[in-house]
Amino acid sequence: MIKLLNIFISFILSILTFFNVTDLPQDEGMDDGEEIVISGVINTEESSIENTEPEEILIPSTSNWWEYPTNIEECSRNGNDLLVLVNKGNQLPSTYKPTDLVKASNSGIRRGESYLLRSIIINDLKDLIDDATSDGIDLSIVSAYRSYSTQESTYRYWVSYNGGCVSCADKISARAGHSQHQLGTTLDFSSNEIGDSLGSQFTNTKASKWLVSNAYKYGFAIGYPQGYESVTGYSFESWHYRYIGKVNALEMKSSGMILEMYLRGKN
Ligand SMILES: [Zn+2]
Repeated sequence: MIKLLNIFISFILSILTFFNVTDLPQDEGMDDGEEIVISGVINTEESSIENTEPEEILIPSTSNWWEYPTNIEECSRNGNDLLVLVNKGNQLPSTYKPTDLVKASNSGIRRGESYLLRSIIINDLKDLIDDATSDGIDLSIVSAYRSYSTQESTYRYWVSYNGGCVSCADKISARAGHSQHQLGTTLDFSSNEIGDSLGSQFTNTKASKWLVSNAYKYGFAIGYPQGYESVTGYSFESWHYRYIGKVNALEMKSSGMILEMYLRGKN
């Protein structure tokens, strides 16, 4: 009887997950003036049911996965710390801005050269790009550092885009201070395979598959993986990667945890 009930609950959750991840073009936020190529096509070939299983214990929540908690706290670690937890419950100060921002062009990226990233990630990013290129993989950058004020305007854009639907925006865009992009260690990848566009069409590219297999070797981790919406609070974003350093990324990979849970354990 309990088994039947579990199957029924899994079925209902899979239906809910399906509609949540297919209702919108996705981005955790886009910069003003950024080239925006909206794709309504979401990858539904891979079922998220299997991926949710390890975290099922976290799913039965009284709140909806995209909602913010009532008690939002300031991040316990400084914004400069590679392991600072930034999520819906932990906010960066509006005044936080990395002091070592440099242009992404220093990494040798083909496109997205003018986006800003912290200098400490450049060497590893350069190695990632060089090795990807050697493997016949093309990568570009379509977003990186976002200031607090840019996050404000980005979030307003997505609320407006969704006809004032706040919950719709909260599934795909962070409110100001809650975006990993404020850290200067987070970037959104694209590829010439999809014309350097930003969004869900990236999921099925060779570039995306290469990153899934290799990004950790260079210190990068995907921020919002598929099937973990109830844990991260965001829809799946195949393009959104955060740098945490090679040692940490390897430790995270070995632990089997997603970035959100790994950082919760460190904060
Ligand atoms: Zn992003």
